[in-house]
Amino acid sequence: MKAIVLVLVLLLSLLACLDLAQARPGGGHSSAGQGSSSSSGAFPSDPFPFERPYSSGNYNTGTPVQVEPVGLVIGLLFVIVLIILFKRLEDRQVFTVAPTAINRAVQQQKIKSGLESLKQSDPNFSGILFLDFVHSLYSKFYSYSTHPEFRYLSPFLSTELQQHFQQAQPWTINEVVINGIRWQEINTQGAEFESICLVIDANYTLHLQGKSTRYAVTERWLLHRTKGLLSSGSNKMQALCCPYCGAPAHFTDVGQCGHCGSVVQKGEMQWCLDKRAVLETTLLAVNELVAYAEEQGTGLATIKQTDLTEQMQGFLQLHALPDWDAFWQAFVEDIVKAYFLTIYKHWSSRNWDAVRHLLSDRLYEANSFWLDLYAEKNWFNRLDDIKIAQIELVKIEQDKFYEAITVRIFASCYDYTEGPGGQVIGGSKRALRRYSEYWTFVRRTNAKQHTGPYSLKQCPQCGAPADKMGQTGECGYCGSKISTGQFSWVLFLIMQDDVYEG
Ligand SMILES: [Zn+2]
Ligand SMILES: [Zn+2]
Repeated sequence: MKAIVLVLVLLLSLLACLDLAQARPGGGHSSAGQGSSSSSGAFPSDPFPFERPYSSGNYNTGTPVQVEPVGLVIGLLFVIVLIILFKRLEDRQVFTVAPTAINRAVQQQKIKSGLESLKQSDPNFSGILFLDFVHSLYSKFYSYSTHPEFRYLSPFLSTELQQHFQQAQPWTINEVVINGIRWQEINTQGAEFESICLVIDANYTLHLQGKSTRYAVTERWLLHRTKGLLSSGSNKMQALCCPYCGAPAHFTDVGQCGHCGSVVQKGEMQWCLDKRAVLETTLLAVNELVAYAEEQGTGLATIKQTDLTEQMQGFLQLHALPDWDAFWQAFVEDIVKAYFLTIYKHWSSRNWDAVRHLLSDRLYEANSFWLDLYAEKNWFNRLDDIKIAQIELVKIEQDKFYEAITVRIFASCYDYTEGPGGQVIGGSKRALRRYSEYWTFVRRTNAKQHTGPYSLKQCPQCGAPADKMGQTGECGYCGSKISTGQFSWVLFLIMQDDVYEG
């Protein structure tokens, strides 16, 4: 019995690690770069050996987990690894094991009330803008790391983290890609500070002594700021900049802005990274892109916002809409179905730039990276005969700057990877794959309301063909930045059903 429990715990922990699964934008069927690897068993030496967690007992070094019980010796090893892993899991927090429905509901409620409490004292707080800020800080934290520019970040890093890369070798890090960010905890109870804890799934390439290595990492970031602050407007949250003058972040070690000369104290004007812990580091194995695992969460019950009905009412009132159906039918047809089919069509043909204007910057960048890997190998992830079976509304969120609608989409297709000669190297052309995903669409609260037919082939601002969006999501005809959701809905996030927590 104990053995069965151990195996179950192991399986659950493996499942919990699969949220980065790639193939299909936002992750599909394989487990590229994630957690435990049963194929190679090769794990990197920790590139940041000096990194330690900020609370004891949460550090996972990414120790090899060999799950191929071939022969007695390996079988024995397997049992030993299980025991070690079980001991570790006991030390880890609940969220790292696949969450149960109850855990998810409790977590969802905690985050929701945390966000509400933040918005009460700071009506400018926007979850989407906050994640934009974290995204910029994360990218620069790594891309600057050992370079002199790292000091530019001084107001946004604790004194300890400012020294973080001092012992590091002179490496260069680029291709920093964030695949997912999850809220873990929001704490507004402190007397002086409020804090937000996030879990970030990312990968990056580290260049050192002529060798390039790609890592997949899961990190916990704890950010804090002085209690009672009012968030900056959207322009100061979507790029790292001086909270006084808005110029790009160029700070001295003591936080003096190189443009306006103001000194920015840590956490006094903007969020500051207080602590971080690396939960897991693994080598990214490109070949795992074609490792097709079973879909994990298609049969799970849909996780809906607890006060969804009230949120729908609020949405109708805000937009002065007569009834929900009128909005919903158009949203399903013009946005959800149209975006879903268009985005997957262009994913399949590796023509990602054609959907640039439909995607948030983060989603575009992350999936560009994966598509570039396919292109390097001359592979295609084909999704033939893709059909949507059902669309369910699960969540509506609104803040001063953004509104977001999350839906669960059930679909099916023939999902396979084609090699350079057109041969199938993963998945199947004959076995229909059914799956579901949670898609979150966002737009600015003051976005222009569309009347008449909605064309995904046009710039939503000027109506010119959407063929010159560039990498930044700016229309080449009118110059408007489309990917912020200023003019129409953009797809902000794709979550797999087995990791969505509400
Ligand atoms: Zn300044
Ligand atoms: Zn335009």
